[in-house]
Amino acid sequence: MVDFALTEEQLAIQKLAREFAEKEIKPVAMERDRIVDPKEAFPVDIFKKSFELGFHKAFIPTDYGGLGLDCLTCLLIWEELAAADAGVCVSFQGHALALEQTINSGTEEQRETFLGAVTEGEGCLTALSFTEPNVGPCWLLVFPDYAMETKAVLQGDEYVLNGTKNFVTNGGTPLTKWYVIHARTDMSKGGLAAHNSFLVWADSPGLNVGKAEDKMGQRLSQNVILYLDDLRVPKGQVLGGVTERSADLFAAERERLTTVDCWVLVGGLSLGIARAAYEAALDYAKQRLIAGRPSIQYQLVGAKLAEMHINIEAARALAWKAARHSDTHPRSDWKLAFGTKILTSDVAVKVSSEAVQIYGGYGYAKENLVEKLYRDAKVTQIYECPNELLKVTIASMLEFGA
Ligand SMILES: Cc1cc2nc3c(=O)[nH]c(=O)nc-3n(C[C@H](O)[C@H](O)[C@H](O)COP(=O)(O)OP(=O)(O)OC[C@H]3O[C@@H](n4cnc5c(N)ncnc54)[C@H](O)[C@@H]3O)c2cc1C
Repeated sequence: MVDFALTEEQLAIQKLAREFAEKEIKPVAMERDRIVDPKEAFPVDIFKKSFELGFHKAFIPTDYGGLGLDCLTCLLIWEELAAADAGVCVSFQGHALALEQTINSGTEEQRETFLGAVTEGEGCLTALSFTEPNVGPCWLLVFPDYAMETKAVLQGDEYVLNGTKNFVTNGGTPLTKWYVIHARTDMSKGGLAAHNSFLVWADSPGLNVGKAEDKMGQRLSQNVILYLDDLRVPKGQVLGGVTERSADLFAAERERLTTVDCWVLVGGLSLGIARAAYEAALDYAKQRLIAGRPSIQYQLVGAKLAEMHINIEAARALAWKAARHSDTHPRSDWKLAFGTKILTSDVAVKVSSEAVQIYGGYGYAKENLVEKLYRDAKVTQIYECPNELLKVTIASMLEFGA
């Protein structure tokens, strides 16, 4: 059974996030979205203000100076941030990916050092770098023999990393303090067990930031190429210590210090986009007169709004169920988590597309929010593993009973 009642604390945090998003993000999001230079669009000021509320340390355990929030509470925050701007939200998502791994897989010393760097002082962002020009991040999930091109070779007490990484969310921003970078450590085999993750300070020599991608949507987030040119990382910064095990991104059997599951969390982002599109379309359909009648009174328009409402409610129910599962069970339920990512992103794309349709020609004009939401939505079906790939993974879990 799923209990959908939120606690007093969850309601208060949801309200705080909504007020912040509406006051600090929403009024400037469309203007910043139009900035041509992707590096200039990144809103440093908004993140600094958000650090004062602690969103950057939301689910870091209290032992390491964080707020220790659970998955469902973070999901609520994500939906509120994304309803104002998905680019701001995905910056927190990229940060969360690096934190989740470090919290669950880091050694005690690594947690103290790297999580401490986030929780102490004025606050910062982090980034997770997995994707390469020729290797998608989730290929290792479905192709067990695949290996990354970025190599980490042990020389004395240091690993030397060489390779190219792309699409790194938060890469190279003035607020980014450290990265989790994945690289191949065992050249004799492929698959997850051939790789390790490295904790790397942003100012390390050999970590070179390349161009920022000029993206279709989510333009308030920054994505860059990273060039690793003889990047030297002390052995002590191999996440979890040097082991013959996976880079741990997909490790199902692990003792978790945070119940937050990033595949579930990204569902909050998609829900935020969908909600914003639905609300805009509903307002518009009530006031737009077509041949003297509000367009919502035309049954095919009304039905679109009804379907948008139903789809958002259904997707949110699944996301909350997945978050509750994550908060109350020792292990993630991958089928639920992947299913949440797939369903919420499909709903975000469908709802934002229908919102443009309801706006008609005006929906195609840049001055209207739904145009931006449609662009923001598309990538949710692509990043954090393309939906097709996650479906293939679920199918294999169904076949083999995982
Ligand atoms: C805005 C943005 C932010 C990102 N942030 C990060 C980040 O912070 N860190 C990071 O490491 N990466 C990040 N990425 C990379 C992202 O995760 C990848 O782009 C994504 O997972 C797809 O990988 P790819 O681009 O290599 O596509 P490919 O792997 O080449 O796939 C292309 C398409 O082929 C199809 N496909 C792929 N595999 C299968 C399959 N097995 N079966 C059927 N169809 C399939 C899908 O339709 C897919 O969209 C980001 C990307 C974007 C656009």
